[in-house]
Amino acid sequence: MSRQSYIIGNWKMYKTGSEAVQFVTELAPLVASSNPHVYLAVPFSSIYQAATAAEKHHIVIGAQNVHDEKEGAFTGEISALMLKDAGAEFVIIGHSERRKIFKEDDSFINRKVLQAMKNDLKVVLCVGETLEERKQHKTEEVLSKQLEKGLKGVPKDYTDFIVAYEPVWAIGTGIAATPEIAQEVHSFLRVILSEQFSKNNAAKIPILYGGSVKPENISSLMEQSDIDGALVGGASLNIESFNKIVNF
Ligand code: PEP
Repeated sequence: MSRQSYIIGNWKMYKTGSEAVQFVTELAPLVASSNPHVYLAVPFSSIYQAATAAEKHHIVIGAQNVHDEKEGAFTGEISALMLKDAGAEFVIIGHSERRKIFKEDDSFINRKVLQAMKNDLKVVLCVGETLEERKQHKTEEVLSKQLEKGLKGVPKDYTDFIVAYEPVWAIGTGIAATPEIAQEVHSFLRVILSEQFSKNNAAKIPILYGGSVKPENISSLMEQSDIDGALVGGASLNIESFNKIVNF
């Protein structure tokens, strides 16, 4: 089955609102006719400006996190409704930096997923094993747990979300998974998805690879049948490298 492909930039805690506007304005003509959908997950404070600059262009703006509650006394947090109102159309949930640094567990991540979906934000759910877990041959166990728990309660016929496989050992290290390793994991993830969503529906869900994606390795990754795009950290901060990845 041919699936829509996506290249998603994850800016982490980089770029102010005005820097985001400049980036979007310069990138827009370069990606106007690109095949993959181009998404940028920007800092909360840049969403409104970036989304306004991206209007009528082939660039979709989203967020890197969301709270699981609708509203309430949660100082420093942000709701799905607030993100939508600011112009976000998607949200990254379960990034390994949030799992590790901010101690987010699978049930919290699952509640965020459901809250985002309820508010019509497209979810990009990240899963990935650490180097230790890979060395101990626990990759499949870890990934199936993260995926099943993260997607608990999502209706069987709901396929309007994205899964990103991001091996923790490949994020920001310069050591990407080989296309073969990534393909093997992606096809495993699709099997897990088919248990919840049926084979037909699982075939519709895009699975992106993330972890040290660069202009030099994007083509070989995209050649794999179960790799439907990339989640890009470091290389998404620079117009030239991000453009090369989008138009690989
Ligand atoms: C990320 O943080 O989602 C990521 C993939 O980072 P990098 O591309 O820098 O490895």
